[in-house]
Amino acid sequence: PAYQAKLGGGALGIGLSRRPLVVPSPKKRVLVTGGAGFVGSHLVDRLLERGDEVIVVDNFFTGRKENIAHNLQNPRFELIRHDVVEPILLEVDQIYHLACPASPVFYKHNPIKTIKTNVVGTLNMLGLAKRVKARFLLTSTSEVYGDPLQHPQKEEYWGNVNPIGVRSCYDEGKRTAETLAMDYSRGAGVEVRIARIFNTYGPRMSIDDGRVVSNFVAQALRKEPMTVYGDGLQTRSFQYVSDLVEGLMRLMEGEHIGPVNLGNPGEFTMLELSEVVKSVVDKDARIVFKENTADDPHKRKPDITKAKQLLGWEPKIPLREGLPRMVEDFRMRLGVEKPIDNS
Ligand code: NAD
Ligand code: UDP
Ligand code: UDP
Repeated sequence: PAYQAKLGGGALGIGLSRRPLVVPSPKKRVLVTGGAGFVGSHLVDRLLERGDEVIVVDNFFTGRKENIAHNLQNPRFELIRHDVVEPILLEVDQIYHLACPASPVFYKHNPIKTIKTNVVGTLNMLGLAKRVKARFLLTSTSEVYGDPLQHPQKEEYWGNVNPIGVRSCYDEGKRTAETLAMDYSRGAGVEVRIARIFNTYGPRMSIDDGRVVSNFVAQALRKEPMTVYGDGLQTRSFQYVSDLVEGLMRLMEGEHIGPVNLGNPGEFTMLELSEVVKSVVDKDARIVFKENTADDPHKRKPDITKAKQLLGWEPKIPLREGLPRMVEDFRMRLGVEKPIDNS
């Protein structure tokens, strides 16, 4: 093994026993809850590439086996069908806690289940982290800022959230999950990390998941009009999934405890987004306006100063570069052929 080669010394006549042993740190056992989902499956790939042992816990509410099927033969990979609302006993070194539906369509489908997942599910995973002394990373969300009155959003901003609305199961659920994480940090000495993730897109998103990028891309590929909710002037900032995964891993390995924004500051109105999708998928794609959903945040853009300073991280892939990669994946899954370019 490499570490034995590093010991060297023999030929120079230096006594091996006197030299410090250079033994590589043992590989980590990492739990990824929600690892069969969009973000989780990309994270799992990176952790396996790094050499870790990975356990995925997922109840397949919004996740899919196809997202992780390519890892099933890997002896360092293990898949457990389990709902995080129920306790579980495992022995691991790190926990990436992602389990929670992320699309408004799915998290509003059964709001009581969503808030249980956020509160009881997070409590269970923190209890597990406490018992086995594992480091714990919560995937929180930019939704904790609600319909923000500060722009762009800094981690210090406390947010503007409706506590009794139809999005509250998610927004307030994640806010409580953050509270639990900080209380387990202060009260039980659990090493916690909190990522506030802004809108993320990329390959493996569920085609009918209902979020705006997947909707627009699938609609344009199917030659259906893209559904713009409201006046389309609300903004979001879209991050490519590989940038997020890099940020999550840096945050886990770093020393910072409090929340850190992970997002791409490039801000687009939904009308601008539809133009980008048109330019990538189909210049003749049409839009249709639909009524907006309740409590829809008007604007959102991360201030990523903290991530830059603490993690040396910033996103590398702008929307115009990331979108074609997602479109290729959607094309394949929808069986839509690429048009021949005669220009
Ligand atoms: P996703 O819906 O694709 O993945 C979530 C995964 O969690 C799915 O595999 C689902 O089956 C699983 N899950 C849900 N409830 C569960 C439960 N009770 N027990 C076990 N497994 C459960 O969503 P995603 O986009 O991959 O998001 C992952 C995490 O990142 C979520 O916690 C989400 O809140 C957070 N996040 C995502 C975004 C984004 O834009 N993608 C933005 C902010 C925050
Ligand atoms: N828990 C778990 N796995 C573990 C340890 C704890 O699922 O390995 C759950 C446990 O069932 C409890 C929650 O995590 O519901 C919080 O655990 P903690 O030990 O902090 O609290 P307590 O059990 O003392 O209420
Ligand atoms: N949206 C849209 N058309 C769609 C889906 C969403 O115009 O088909 C809008 C939605 O109203 C919101 C924005 O796109 O203003 C982002 O919505 P998404 O569900 O992707 O994520 P959110 O940031 O709301 O969690």
